[in-house]
Amino acid sequence: MIPAKFEYHAPTALPDAIALLERYADDAKLLAGGQSLIPMMRFRLVEPGHLVAIGRIDGLAYVRESDGHLAIGAMTREADLEHAPLVAERYPILRDTSAVIADPLVRNLATIGGNLAHADPANDHPATMLVLGAEIVAEGPNGRRTIAIDDFFEDTFTTALGTSEVLVEIRIPQPRARSGAAYLKLERKVGDFAIVGVAARVTLDESGAFDSVGIGLTNVGPTPIRARKTESSLIGQRPSDEVLKAAGASAAGEAEPVTDGRGPAEYKRAMVRTLTIRALRQALERVR
Ligand code: FAD
Repeated sequence: MIPAKFEYHAPTALPDAIALLERYADDAKLLAGGQSLIPMMRFRLVEPGHLVAIGRIDGLAYVRESDGHLAIGAMTREADLEHAPLVAERYPILRDTSAVIADPLVRNLATIGGNLAHADPANDHPATMLVLGAEIVAEGPNGRRTIAIDDFFEDTFTTALGTSEVLVEIRIPQPRARSGAAYLKLERKVGDFAIVGVAARVTLDESGAFDSVGIGLTNVGPTPIRARKTESSLIGQRPSDEVLKAAGASAAGEAEPVTDGRGPAEYKRAMVRTLTIRALRQALERVR
């Protein structure tokens, strides 16, 4: 279908974009890579009267380490994350995640900011950001603020961002010593959204026991899910097949899948169990 009529704005400065979002309020939508918004407009699921494109604003696409964290500009394309040497070397879970999003055509346009701001529980980055303890930097009419990722996803397609706020940066703490992380996704075919995805991050103490753990689940609930009970159950334990198996069963219990075209709820729960074990195992291998 053809989208409903809209007016297109392409400001070249962030304050102008924010002013436009404020002026048109609920009748405006910010446009980044367009890979989620344009399909929704074509299906007329959303019909904004004004599109505020931020692609011409300089300085919103970067990947760099500073002050103890990795900073990723909101307009960084998935393809750039996938191929960034810094990401491959220090944050391979981010490459795991970007590389399984859609197909290369989509990844050339889709942005990490859009992936998070869209808050689709089927999107892959949210679970990864939950386990990495990311922070979202938002800029709006009242200046900048930081939102902890645990407070960011409020409901399906709903985040803590205000209507006139722009997600400008994602901050990820630099990994501590003896840490590793991995993202695994099960899909019906290459390029599809996840049947189930699991992100796992581990930090071991000097004795080799779990000191800190993050487990995030994709597409098995109304929002991305952090499997908190499973995370705490692992602390202090030494990794073993039995311990990982118990963690898989526990994470499956924390998932809230529904039966749909991607399979019955019980199948998805079983896949959460399997992928949790595998993701933890891969994260542990990366510690080494
Ligand atoms: P847009 O489509 O431009 O925007 C999406 C929403 O976020 C809009 O509401 C917009 O207003 C808002 N927004 C965007 N940027 C900002 C910002 N900086 N600040 C505030 N609000 C903002 N995603 C996956 O995770 N995994 C997949 O497997 C996958 N498969 C796909 C397959 C296809 C064929 C397509 C078309 C998409 C697929 N996607 C998948 C979805 C897509 O990759 C993401 O949702 C996309 O990354 C969104 O980013 P964007 O830049 O295109 O955002």
